[in-house]
Amino acid sequence: MQAMPTDVVRELVATAHAAAATGLVVGTVGNVSARIGDHFLISASGTRFDSLSPAQLCELDCDGNVVAGTLRPSSETGLHRAIYRSRAEAGAILHTHAPWSTALACVLDELPCIHYQMLALGGAVRVAPYRCFGTDELAAVTLAALEGRRAALMSNHGAIVFAESPAAAFEAMQVLEFACRVYWRAAQLGMPRVLDPQQWQEVAAQVQRLGYGVTHPRRGRGR
Ligand SMILES: [Zn+2]
Repeated sequence: MQAMPTDVVRELVATAHAAAATGLVVGTVGNVSARIGDHFLISASGTRFDSLSPAQLCELDCDGNVVAGTLRPSSETGLHRAIYRSRAEAGAILHTHAPWSTALACVLDELPCIHYQMLALGGAVRVAPYRCFGTDELAAVTLAALEGRRAALMSNHGAIVFAESPAAAFEAMQVLEFACRVYWRAAQLGMPRVLDPQQWQEVAAQVQRLGYGVTHPRRGRGR
């Protein structure tokens, strides 16, 4: 067994703790991973996010073989692997059963683009049809829902995002949960307005002009 890269381990552990502290993950229902070369690190099955430790991470090669770590990898390892294989830009993945995201995933077919922060997710967020957890079928429908996007809801299950790093994936999940919460509240009052393609392009141009990283807004600069 080889040693895992300490900086990635530290970031994954910090991301798990942050996801638990902010209510995105309760108990053991979530998984987080990060790509390292053609391998990836992923949380072990049944681990609590609020107390996740480096010993509860597994390193897998691109064929899904465990090359470091002593525990069984997350039941959604196949889903993470499918994303890393097909999306070169994915550096880290976070899957949760965050309450607002999961609630809307029980009702909507797609979360419309109702807020400009959703640019970080690639726009409107599709809801993948329900399939049993931990299956190749779930991985396939979720991958399809992620086409051209960095986030997807999973019907009657939860949410998944990917980004360049674990910290960025955590921020993306926060944006998704925020958008779901806002949509739900707005829908109590009427039909939420949706940003049109022109407004969308305007936001993209403004982000470019001001040099904002969409998933990593510069600290101390309000938007
Ligand atoms: Zn799940």
